[in-house]
Amino acid sequence: MKKTVLITGASRGIGRATAELFAYRGCNVLINYNSSHSDAAELVSVLKGNGFEAELFKADVSARGQVDRMLEYCAERFGGIDILVNNAAISDSRLFTEITQSEWDRMLDINLKGVFNCTQSALKYMLPQKRGVIINVASMWGETGGACEVHYSASKAGIIGFTKALAKELGPSGIRVNCISPGVIQTDMLKEYDRDSLEELKSSAPLMRLGTAGDVASGIFYLSSDEADFITGQVLGINGGMVI
Ligand code: NAP
Repeated sequence: MKKTVLITGASRGIGRATAELFAYRGCNVLINYNSSHSDAAELVSVLKGNGFEAELFKADVSARGQVDRMLEYCAERFGGIDILVNNAAISDSRLFTEITQSEWDRMLDINLKGVFNCTQSALKYMLPQKRGVIINVASMWGETGGACEVHYSASKAGIIGFTKALAKELGPSGIRVNCISPGVIQTDMLKEYDRDSLEELKSSAPLMRLGTAGDVASGIFYLSSDEADFITGQVLGINGGMVI
């Protein structure tokens, strides 16, 4: 039977590459986006044009009502959900002392509460079927801490704790929960870095290159697959060896 996967923040970057990979591997794919409508619509149209099952849903992951409607739509359209990829996030770079309360709240609302919202909403469908996979996208900064990214690092460290705790709670219900921790990946999220900083980051990775969205998508796909059936509560670093 075809599996159904919902990927948050799939209009661009890692989420987009993940949606493409799951579609090409025969899954029904629900592509979530918030503001990049034309990118998301173009992706769905390309996937459908190639004969794959893909749909689009606009929802801000920090808004619970929108998230609940998205999961209802997923169940109506595809009959349920098998895999949830919590990928949507924002980033921001500034000194800790300059982070305002509203910037702090926005970061945590999208990056961490978004994971809470989507996961709780998806569990309404996964728990009764006693089956499901949840993949949360954290960051190496959540493991090691990034200077001038304290709010981002805190949100990603929160995702790691969330993953480990929930994996213990949901294992007996047949649901696996894992975390992907990307290093420096070439997407729009790097646009604040200048060329010199990127070169420096590249040379500090043992594999001497930046990651691609496809590198991360492959890890997400593996952890979602039956090949990873005995893996839960883990953090898979995809960082070219930058964090060992
Ligand atoms: P990206 O290219 O900036 O894409 C971010 C995605 O998140 C977009 O599709 C965006 O959709 C969506 N998004 C943002 N706010 C949203 C909201 N409120 N509701 C729903 N969707 C929202 O970033 P990326 O590099 O692919 O990052 C993907 C994940 O990897 C994130 O969790 C990020 O923290 C993590 N990560 C990235 C790197 C890196 O170096 N790139 C490193 C470590 C971890 P719209 O444009 O439609 O709003």
